[in-house]
Amino acid sequence: MNSIVIIGGGLAGLVGANYMAEKGISVTLIEKKNYPFHRVCGEYISNETIPFLKSRGLFPEEFSPSKINRFQLTSVNGRSAQLPLDLGGFGISRYTFDHFLYRKALGKGVNFILNTEVENILFNDNAFSIRFGQTELRADLVIGSFGKRSKLDINMKRSFIQKRSPYAGVKYHIRTDQPSDLISLHNFKDGYCGISQIEDNKFTLCYLTHRNNLKKYGSIKIMEEKVLCKNPFLKSIFQNSEFLYDRPEVINEISFATKTPIENHVLMTGDAAGMITPLCGNGMAMAIHSAKILSELAVEFSKGKLSREQLEKNYSQKWNSLFSRRLWAGRQIQRLFGDEWTSNLAVNLMRKSKPIADLIIRSTHGEIF
Ligand SMILES: Cc1cc2nc3c(=O)[nH]c(=O)nc-3n(C[C@H](O)[C@H](O)[C@H](O)COP(=O)(O)OP(=O)(O)OC[C@H]3O[C@@H](n4cnc5c(N)ncnc54)[C@H](O)[C@@H]3O)c2cc1C
Repeated sequence: MNSIVIIGGGLAGLVGANYMAEKGISVTLIEKKNYPFHRVCGEYISNETIPFLKSRGLFPEEFSPSKINRFQLTSVNGRSAQLPLDLGGFGISRYTFDHFLYRKALGKGVNFILNTEVENILFNDNAFSIRFGQTELRADLVIGSFGKRSKLDINMKRSFIQKRSPYAGVKYHIRTDQPSDLISLHNFKDGYCGISQIEDNKFTLCYLTHRNNLKKYGSIKIMEEKVLCKNPFLKSIFQNSEFLYDRPEVINEISFATKTPIENHVLMTGDAAGMITPLCGNGMAMAIHSAKILSELAVEFSKGKLSREQLEKNYSQKWNSLFSRRLWAGRQIQRLFGDEWTSNLAVNLMRKSKPIADLIIRSTHGEIF
């Protein structure tokens, strides 16, 4: 049987490891950090994932995730619109969800190498050599689920990494007064901020901002006061909520540029294959879905039923037909956000035409799987 190594243990890596281990495939997963840990993420997961997660015993029911079925959008100057979400989603922190998936995978015999950052992957003579520190690991198949931006992208000379990206993400957990079934998305100048409930009656407040805001005001706190709080909804949330961390989680250089799902025979899943703009609330569903379709094919490859060439061709076709349009739509819709005039336009569109709003939401989401 062929040996499989997954690099990166976020949702894509952990779901893939769980799926393949359950099918009797021996899998090694290498992760830079150690579980549990916090990540910058809005922590709203589209319900399109539930049937698959439940079918594999991976739905985190025991933590009572919130059930979200209404959406509120506010513009930079505080105009507001609300809409029911036909499909909706659930809320759970990545701290809890990823740890839950990690423990499930451990129980199925996945071999974890933690606190280890892979530095390079080479493909030669129909096999991979994976390098970290003084160690070299051999594998027949490598799955790249190392997220939106990794040292590996630089070492593999992936084209998107050659350009700097102006976006930064900031996340807090808070206690606040918002209905548990509502996800709100508040615009501010050159950014937007999502708030929705997760487990234990906590809420995630997570925003994306252009780095110019940070540059101009020099600190996150001052930027929040001077820029985010110009939106009266955000002002009220920042003034009346309990912030549960001393400091927020922060990441820089978030890129939405086009990537390719296969590079030098490494099969990419989740954000490593392509990242959808966060306002769509669909990145995690895409990470789970891409891990599912790749794992199904990897199992066939591992059992000798597919050649490498067939595996790569099938995966590339499936990935493009499921995700390419969605990524493109997300990039276009993001243009409506973060500006006073266009965010008002988006709110007015939502208030006046539910069919248009539904169409926009549908264009960034997939079918239930
Ligand atoms: C501001 C913001 C808000 C968001 N909000 C939402 C939301 O509400 N809903 C939603 O569905 N999506 C949201 N997303 C998107 C979502 O977070 C991602 O799409 C999702 O986390 C992708 O999962 P992944 O497994 O591909 O990557 P990740 O979860 O990022 O995991 C990648 C893993 O790889 C590891 N790694 C990286 N390099 C290496 C290496 N060289 N060696 C070993 N390990 C490595 C990292 O440590 C990490 O654990 C948001 C994103 C941002 C930036």
